[in-house]
Amino acid sequence: MKSAVGATIIRNGQLIDGAGAAPLPHAALVIVDGRIVYAGAEAAAPETPREAKILDARGGTIMPGLVEAHFHPTYFNVAALEDLDIKYPVEYVTLLAAANARLALECGYTAARSGGSLFNIDVWLKKAIENDLTPGPRLAASGREICGVGGLMDWNPDFRRIGMEGLVLLINGPDEARAAVRKLVKDGVEWVKTYPTGDAAAPDVNDHHTLCMTFEEMHAVVATAHNHGLKVTGHCRATEGIKNALRAGYDALEHGTFMDDEALEMLLARDVPVVPALYFELASIQHGPEFGMPQRVIDGHQETLDGGAESARRILQAGGRLGMGGDYGFAWNPHGDYAKELSFFVNYVGFSPLDVIRCATKTGAEIMGRGHEFGTLEAGKLADVLVVEGDVASDISRLENRQNFLAVMQGGVIKAGRAAHPSPE
Ligand SMILES: [Zn+2]
Repeated sequence: MKSAVGATIIRNGQLIDGAGAAPLPHAALVIVDGRIVYAGAEAAAPETPREAKILDARGGTIMPGLVEAHFHPTYFNVAALEDLDIKYPVEYVTLLAAANARLALECGYTAARSGGSLFNIDVWLKKAIENDLTPGPRLAASGREICGVGGLMDWNPDFRRIGMEGLVLLINGPDEARAAVRKLVKDGVEWVKTYPTGDAAAPDVNDHHTLCMTFEEMHAVVATAHNHGLKVTGHCRATEGIKNALRAGYDALEHGTFMDDEALEMLLARDVPVVPALYFELASIQHGPEFGMPQRVIDGHQETLDGGAESARRILQAGGRLGMGGDYGFAWNPHGDYAKELSFFVNYVGFSPLDVIRCATKTGAEIMGRGHEFGTLEAGKLADVLVVEGDVASDISRLENRQNFLAVMQGGVIKAGRAAHPSPE
């Protein structure tokens, strides 16, 4: 991805650094050749060349670009779980994924970690974004996910004889787990996404208290992935699945819903980050009925919401790390709604806006293994920056509306926001 050439000064705004510090009023950000060289009080900003571009934040907020830590580029706002697989051919889903990536960037998400994709689309989408062929967040790719046979993601009955090749690799036992990871190594993924547990979405045989992989399978995944330098994460709701993941050496947990004291202790001991993706549960409860979601599924989502909110609060209070990502791409939580996760964590879970922003920027970048490159506004980092009209620290919902973005920058290049498409005033 090409960075900007030359100098840009963003001035006349309050600066939120993404590391959790109080907003700094009357601040400026100085960018040279795509990197931040100064972030601080405007009065103390260094001299900049006369030809520097000036971006007036109009008294609004200057903050790091957001990181969507659980992004499914190939989920196209489906109402039925089954449609995530091979409803459409891979050619069409690739185009849908590119459109979702563009939308995420326009929504202020300058980076994203894939939580799994149809076939290997996210690996190649990442390449296209890196080569500036198509706009999108800086991506970490996961490719196909791994799940045990008969588990949450194995929904095609055997008489159809079509397996589940598009979305997941199904495994029986540690040998097949190793074979699946080796396939992903060849595909070029960075994260291996697994399904240690079920979900409220499948109440019959794979609900949120069911295990979908054995510890031995999970351990084989981790050993093989780590040997090749890949990281491992997993869909973990059931308490025992969370503990299996932590014992097996997982690098992150998705959801981490039903944490007991022992699970929390194990999590904190290794400082494993968790991406709760919780607004999904509220959206399912509120909007599921419009899409024919059965009451027992909604009841399961309510239990998941309550358990997940409690676990997230405990993790934050204990000093653990949380990323913000939302599993967007279902009819009730479509792509584009990403920042609803942030408002939800303030209004429903009780986090402060600055805590949520830190989770959505600094921690997100750390989860991607790129905390040294972006995620905070400080000298030396890539200028992945949002300029937002208004005070985001007192009203985080301003991030939900793209009309509030003056600029969405990657490497100092304005990719979206009103400054990217100046309109006559
Ligand atoms: Zn997901």
